[in-house]
Amino acid sequence: MCGIVGILGEDNAPQIALESLMSIQHRGQDSCGILCYNNNVTLKKDVGLVSEVFSHWNVQDGRLAIGHVRYPTIGTDPSRDAQPFYVNYPYGLGLCHNGNIVNYCELREELLEKRRRLQSKCDGELLLNVFAEELIGNDVFQAAENVMNRVLGSYSAVSVIADKKGTLTIFRDPFGIRPLVYGSGKSWVMVASESVTLDKFRMMSEDVTPGEVIIVNGDDIQRKQLRTERHAHCMFEWVYFSRVDSVLEGSSVYKTRLNLGKNLRLDHDVDVVIPVPDTARPAALGFAEEHGLPYREGLIKNRYAGRSFIMGTQKKREEAVSKLNVIKSEIKGKKIALIDDSIVRGTTSRKIVSMIRNAGAKEVHLLSSCPRIVFPCFYGIDFPSKKELIASRGEIHTIGADSVTYQTLDGLQKAIGLQDLCMACLNGDYPVECCTAQFEMMREKEREESIWQEC
Ligand code: SF4
Repeated sequence: MCGIVGILGEDNAPQIALESLMSIQHRGQDSCGILCYNNNVTLKKDVGLVSEVFSHWNVQDGRLAIGHVRYPTIGTDPSRDAQPFYVNYPYGLGLCHNGNIVNYCELREELLEKRRRLQSKCDGELLLNVFAEELIGNDVFQAAENVMNRVLGSYSAVSVIADKKGTLTIFRDPFGIRPLVYGSGKSWVMVASESVTLDKFRMMSEDVTPGEVIIVNGDDIQRKQLRTERHAHCMFEWVYFSRVDSVLEGSSVYKTRLNLGKNLRLDHDVDVVIPVPDTARPAALGFAEEHGLPYREGLIKNRYAGRSFIMGTQKKREEAVSKLNVIKSEIKGKKIALIDDSIVRGTTSRKIVSMIRNAGAKEVHLLSSCPRIVFPCFYGIDFPSKKELIASRGEIHTIGADSVTYQTLDGLQKAIGLQDLCMACLNGDYPVECCTAQFEMMREKEREESIWQEC
């Protein structure tokens, strides 16, 4: 999972790209990059946060730029896998995307057989190469349609064609699994993973529809709906991933999280509601309001610690939990309703429950604003193989809480207010076919390799 931005039409497009990436840093902390076009292509990308990678950047002039922040679910070399990617043939072509390609192995083999050079294990490079191939002898719409026919999975993509004026091409997979919003002003257009980026520049945003392509060249903007499937927007964007002030598909993330809290059942007698910071705060507030209970901050997170879930390794995630501290006065002697956004592996929940017990809580009742996650995700969120998911293993009791309550599927859908969602990790109904065994094997192998590199 990642975040992308694209700007065309402003003289300071690279500077806008830089500021835009800052606004979606929460979508990826592993690496980042910006590709600019101003008759020449300039590409800067590296491992690290946007503020680190671009701290001494000599900001370019230019009317066209795309940018990326990365959270890895595929690949083991963060430096080689950083996006955007660029190729010279058949045109100068740059691309970055947010998502996960599920027929990665087949496409990779196909491209290697055709002697396409792939220098990373990142599926963004694969998507770029398929797009480049399809541009030979086809116009951009036809090329994008062919990409949608060949590439399976989730991809919200933005691309630069280095022709005379520079063309910005935007497309979203036919199921619209990952978000993508678009806005146009008087003389410029912008695309980003989340509406918060467009808000920052006071630009009205609309969702790029699933299977849609937008081509912008100078003042000319063309849009085409190439494929229509059932929309399957990832529910986890509302539950955890997106920024709380974003609006996705017309549904506010903040309101959804409040509603998720309201829809949670209260099964036990509790004294106080405490959120696991930061994502679960609105859900805890909604839950407290709904049940007439006091809301307190009992866990404080060092604001300089990154988001724990998107950290690439278990070791880093555990270190992030150690950056939490308790406010004993709000916990000691009380029965606590502890609200978290979700329970995935259970490792962080176990540590937090133990911290609260050590602070003197009488009882700890854990409530998850997300339903039970029991199936892996193949579309860009690092929900690992079934055997790593605590609910799938039936080991929720090992968390050590007095009780664990989950959101219901119905409660989730009502909170988001949309029917056309991907909920495959909850109910096993995958919108895009995927050879799951092969995918899980590939991911496990990569994980072993990255653990090996760390040792
Ligand atoms: S499987 Fe789950 S996490 Fe993955 S895209 Fe679907 S809803 Fe989102």
